[in-house]
Amino acid sequence: MCGIIGVVGYNDVNTEIINGLTTLQHRGQDSAGLVTFDGNFHLKKGSGSVGTVFKNINLNSVRGNYGLGHVRYSTIGSTDEVDAQPIAVNYPFGIAMVHNGNVINFVELRKKLYEEHHRLLDTSNDVALILYTFASILEGKDLKNLKVNDIFDTVEEVQKNVKGAFSAITIIANRGFLAFTDPYGIRPLVMGRKYTDQGVVYAFASESTTFDYLGYELVRDLKPGEMLFVDKNRNIHTRIGKTKKQAFCVFEYIYFAREDSVIHDRLVASERVRMGRKLAETFDRSGLKPDIIIDVPNSAYFFASAMAETMGVPYRRGLAKNHHMGRSFITPNQKEREKMVKQKLNPIRDIVKGRKVAVVDDSIVRGTTSKHIVQLLRDYGAKKVYFVSAAPPIKHPCIYGIDMSVKKEILASHYNSDEIAKFIGADAVIYQNLDDIKELYKDLPICHACFSGEYPTGITNELLDEIEQEKLGSNRV
Ligand code: AMP
Repeated sequence: MCGIIGVVGYNDVNTEIINGLTTLQHRGQDSAGLVTFDGNFHLKKGSGSVGTVFKNINLNSVRGNYGLGHVRYSTIGSTDEVDAQPIAVNYPFGIAMVHNGNVINFVELRKKLYEEHHRLLDTSNDVALILYTFASILEGKDLKNLKVNDIFDTVEEVQKNVKGAFSAITIIANRGFLAFTDPYGIRPLVMGRKYTDQGVVYAFASESTTFDYLGYELVRDLKPGEMLFVDKNRNIHTRIGKTKKQAFCVFEYIYFAREDSVIHDRLVASERVRMGRKLAETFDRSGLKPDIIIDVPNSAYFFASAMAETMGVPYRRGLAKNHHMGRSFITPNQKEREKMVKQKLNPIRDIVKGRKVAVVDDSIVRGTTSKHIVQLLRDYGAKKVYFVSAAPPIKHPCIYGIDMSVKKEILASHYNSDEIAKFIGADAVIYQNLDDIKELYKDLPICHACFSGEYPTGITNELLDEIEQEKLGSNRV
């Protein structure tokens, strides 16, 4: 998963991009990057968080009133700098790009690029594939008389050829600024606007929270398959390109996006409250009666508090979190992960002691976190521990950019909830009902492939295997 931002300003946009990236840091901490354009591209990127990468940056070396930024959470490809974004090519005109999502037909496209356009992809980063495809097709247009429609036709070709999830922002040197999404609109991309003395400044970002911090007004989300071009005179052109039935990733609402972001006119926090109320109904049907409901900080707060409110059971913060630890989920091996989870959370003794505790987390993937939490709560004297997952059972890998590991490690693809309760040591495991999630999103078509195995783009077993192998090898080149 990744976070992206782009700004079309009048003055230098470097600080705005860097500040904007800090608001998207939750979407990836493996690498960060920035490109600006002032007649030339100026690129700065590296491994690590925004603070690390831009710590000693000389702002004079990244000047320009057009800019793009990116934070990366590597799902496939390495965490090395070579796979960091943005990337730029010098043909035609010079084009820079950032993207969020995951391309699934990487091998096929790489071959096609080489055979049809004679371009050799020298990175395992799929933005390179989108950019090379875009640039190679654009190169075939009448470049002396390039029209907006030529750019849009090129995006449509990209949408036709590139399979998977992509939300991309692009600078086309001396021509303009382009944003586009895949035909399903799987990943979020929002547009913002700010009025200044010099004119209107436009920005694009993965999440609206960025606009709140930077003082932009949220204009709207890009629609599935939409392309939006801001020309040199700041005129906006749009076209809906290749579209399929919308399939917005529901895991963005459950876990990934920040609670203060608004995506598709829905505040993430309110979505979690709605899901928490549904969880309460499911929990009630189990016949179990907790004395207290606690959350696993931080993403489960709204689920747990809404669930407690609905059930008439007290909600308390029952686990303290050390915010200064890295993320446990993407630590490379199981032993390391367990160690890290251990150092991260600590029960608040009197809240859990002698009580029947329902503990709510956003999801269970490998069960590492939940197993450890159950043990901790027992060590601190909880009488019963009911583990509640705000997400339905995750049974299938995400191929659209959320790192859910490979199938053999995903617990619910092999075990039912009683077996999982046993595995993590809980008295019961209660999962959100997938039908309830579908009911909550009857007005916004969602992707729920990780729960249902229904991949909106379609997928063959061979391709799934290929993606898993790439993940295990973490190397596409
Ligand atoms: P696990 O310990 O493998 O069962 O993972 C579940 C925990 O990881 C939950 O506490 C989630 O908050 C977190 N989590 C779930 N999905 C992801 C993801 N794609 N990236 C990072 N963390 C995640």
